[in-house]
Amino acid sequence: MRIRLDRTMCDGFGLCAKHAPEYFSLDDWGYASLEGNGEIPEADQGAVMRALLDCPVHAIIEMGERRPSRDGAAHSDAVEAPEPDPAINDNEAISEFIR
Ligand code: SF4
Repeated sequence: MRIRLDRTMCDGFGLCAKHAPEYFSLDDWGYASLEGNGEIPEADQGAVMRALLDCPVHAIIEMGERRPSRDGAAHSDAVEAPEPDPAINDNEAISEFIR
């Protein structure tokens, strides 16, 4: 199991550090950081999954998560969408921000 933490979504509830303190630390304001590279050994997956499921803002994301397809079969090749490249993104707001 591999996870990542989207710190932009974290609202500092601290539940992740309560459930899996080996993988989540909190700063002085209660915002979480992921400890390690996101690889979770089998023995710790229960605690980390609890943290993932209890995070009120869904800031903890399981990478390569299997999601059901329309035909009901699980996708094994589900991957996270890449970050948009602002240099080629024609979104005016982003372009203005970069200038
Ligand atoms: S449970 Fe979610 S919102 Fe709370 S500190 Fe952890 S990542 Fe942030």
